[in-house]
Amino acid sequence: MSEPEHVLVVGAGLGGLRTVEGLRRAGYEGRIGLVGTEEPPAYDRPPLSKQYLAGEWDRDRIDLAAGDHLETLGVRTHFGRSAVSLRAGADGNEVELDDGSTLHADAVVLAVGVAARRLAEQPESVHLLRTVDDATGLRKALANASSLLVVGAGFIGAEVASTAVKGGLAVTVLEADGVPMARVLGPEVGALAGRLISAGGADLRCGVSVSSLTASGATLSDGTSVEADVTVVGVGACLELDWLASTGLDLSGGIVCDEHGRVEGLDGVWAVGDAAAWTDPRYGDRIRHEHWTSATDQAAAVAADIAGADPPPESVPYFWSDQFGMKIQLIGRPDLADGLLALHGEGFADGADTGGEIKGTTIGYLRGDELVAVVGFGAARRVARYRKPLAERATRDAVLEFRDSLT
Ligand SMILES: Cc1cc2nc3c(=O)[nH]c(=O)nc-3n(C[C@H](O)[C@H](O)[C@H](O)COP(=O)(O)OP(=O)(O)OC[C@H]3O[C@@H](n4cnc5c(N)ncnc54)[C@H](O)[C@@H]3O)c2cc1C
Repeated sequence: MSEPEHVLVVGAGLGGLRTVEGLRRAGYEGRIGLVGTEEPPAYDRPPLSKQYLAGEWDRDRIDLAAGDHLETLGVRTHFGRSAVSLRAGADGNEVELDDGSTLHADAVVLAVGVAARRLAEQPESVHLLRTVDDATGLRKALANASSLLVVGAGFIGAEVASTAVKGGLAVTVLEADGVPMARVLGPEVGALAGRLISAGGADLRCGVSVSSLTASGATLSDGTSVEADVTVVGVGACLELDWLASTGLDLSGGIVCDEHGRVEGLDGVWAVGDAAAWTDPRYGDRIRHEHWTSATDQAAAVAADIAGADPPPESVPYFWSDQFGMKIQLIGRPDLADGLLALHGEGFADGADTGGEIKGTTIGYLRGDELVAVVGFGAARRVARYRKPLAERATRDAVLEFRDSLT
């Protein structure tokens, strides 16, 4: 493919910003346009449930493109504007914006992220957390509150709970599943994550769902109710891709891409970040990661692909979460696993939570005999060491030998 004259990036969050930066780094000298629904400056989301929510960091500290960064890169911005349709064709692509204007580009990168999922009949006074405006609203509400109800014990819910406990609030966390984070970590490791939440000082109630939400709390499926000054819903994210319906693509599982991020079925269109379901070159399936590092890695790969530069080295999926004084880190693909292997620490043995110290606990995920993921609780150095056996698709015995070689 010859180098395009105009690359248009839709979505000015992490993936979009890293794509425009990557294009220039890869030597691309043509025109770049960047469309973003949100008003500038673009910002980073992980601190929204952590330092920014706690009031420890201000807005400047989370900027992704401070000052004249985008001007310096020669990027034409269309902020405060949403893309409302895409027409991809052999003669180039057209993106229509919500002000009725149309932008033409020979390469389009979709970096549109996801939205926070609402509960049915969720009152306006109940908070969500996806944008900096959401975080600012929640931060103000928490400053005047003494109790918080968190609906959903996923990573974001647990981080908000942790921040609020640290701020002195009485926090109740509701989880419909039997344990928190089961969808990502599996039920056994999820039980350990649940213990971290309870030991951290939040009142975690699992296996209950919300029947109704009010401005002052919730009524639960077991007939009980919880009162709180502030309620936040953290029940995952949803795709907002209706504006791409005219492309005829099946978007139900995200924007389907090959292993280079090229959108399957559309010439000259790539996708990165939370909305993109890339082909995993190792396992051949498609997977959508809602991980900061995936958006960054994919942006670098797409920028190189468009600019005709050498691709970056293959990366292993990585996610972290900071909660209750501990960093949880996950590398690899736990969704593929059918077995667990306790590696280090005292919190986990024989496939179950032991009740022992959580810090330092490191667990491997196996698919058959092959290591496919590793999770660590307060075990950053250890987890990093397992990148190599993961990349090498080490067997159970090789992993145990590797573990024993670590000091
Ligand atoms: C509160 C919070 C905490 C997090 N913490 C962690 C963490 O600790 N570790 C971790 O690995 N990950 C974390 N994440 C996830 C991480 O932030 C995301 O994976 C990352 O932001 C994804 O980047 P993205 O570019 O795909 O999407 P986003 O950063 O969401 O950016 C997408 C942008 O596209 C815009 N957009 C959408 N539709 C259109 C349209 N039609 N036209 C124009 N613009 C559009 C959106 O408004 C948005 O600004 C967290 C996320 C949140 C919300």
